[in-house]
Amino acid sequence: MSDLTDVVAAYATDLIDLLPVVTLKDFLHWYQLQVDPEFQPPPTKAKRALFAEVALSLVQAKPAHLLAFFDAEPETIPELEANRWPFSMSYDQRHLLTATDHLPVASTRKAHLYGNDVLVPAYSVLEVLRLQLLGTDGRKALLAKARQEAKLLPAYQEAQAQRKQQQLLHRKQRENLRSAFWQSVEALRQKLPPAEQPLFALAFWTQQINQVQKYWQLHTTDKSHGLADYYHLKGLAIAEFLESDDAHIKHGFYRPKQADRYYVSLCAEHFSDYQLETDYGIPVYWYYQEHRAAIDACPMCQVTVTQDYYALYFTQVKNADFSFSFHTPYPLGHQLYGAVDQYPRVHHQPNVDGDFTFGHAMDRELLQAVGEKNILDEFQQARFAFGAL
Ligand SMILES: [Zn+2]
Repeated sequence: MSDLTDVVAAYATDLIDLLPVVTLKDFLHWYQLQVDPEFQPPPTKAKRALFAEVALSLVQAKPAHLLAFFDAEPETIPELEANRWPFSMSYDQRHLLTATDHLPVASTRKAHLYGNDVLVPAYSVLEVLRLQLLGTDGRKALLAKARQEAKLLPAYQEAQAQRKQQQLLHRKQRENLRSAFWQSVEALRQKLPPAEQPLFALAFWTQQINQVQKYWQLHTTDKSHGLADYYHLKGLAIAEFLESDDAHIKHGFYRPKQADRYYVSLCAEHFSDYQLETDYGIPVYWYYQEHRAAIDACPMCQVTVTQDYYALYFTQVKNADFSFSFHTPYPLGHQLYGAVDQYPRVHHQPNVDGDFTFGHAMDRELLQAVGEKNILDEFQQARFAFGAL
């Protein structure tokens, strides 16, 4: 590793920039007392730039002066948290260097991160610059050396082994999940008479993509999203079910208690009445319910009713052993299904506390274990196989 004097020589300007004016004054005062009693520091009232300029010329002339000052006044050494370093180094790498005495932690600060209290370490700027001076290759070599040294540290090895153990366990769990899933696919296939296999395979994989769609409905972000338009794909499967005359397929519709959507646009007069009476405390729709006769009679108020907006179409694929159900909201389904009343009405218990009225999202672990691409491919194969009949 490079000597600290080299570090100060190489980064004198950066170091001086990091020092607050009071430290610069202390340094110059210290210099005067220790090294050169004849030295004239700038007047106390001078600007920071002047202190910095004088300090920099002293450090450039003899870098060891600043180190000697830091030795005498260690609390004046600036500290840098890892997110302000001039190069990047992972948490694991910093931890390795600290464990092997190549990177002392200068201080720790309590911080609140992702809902947890964590200790954030800060490092002496001299140590950080020392690592910077090594360059990329030098840091790589130092990390390799530290990894060798860490093999001799029982505590570090134990922590690493524990981490590896956890990773292995997680991989094993994922493997179990994956094989259990494919076993259930195989069990389904074996239990079905060959003539029913194409239909029930499509029903099964439609249920899977439906759950994947719900997963992404909950988890889509700027950086991650589903591989396909699953609403569209589910619609293609539903279209197959609607076209088929297979006796295992039944359709219906579910109409909740309040199935119609009301869009209420109040006139200026009724709106100011709504405002006065409720102070915006209730939705306009509730106000409409209470003053229905008057608003319906008012020529200036507008009420648009979309009938069965909250109704759901229902398709079921069922035999003695298996049953798959699909609910499609009216606005998405009415192109495919057509008028609601041509289907028998079904009564279902909606989910009370789930994320969705019917069905549920696929579990993240299961999705990762099985693989979204595999589910998509299996669905497409099942759809073509059924459609070819
Ligand atoms: Zn009105």
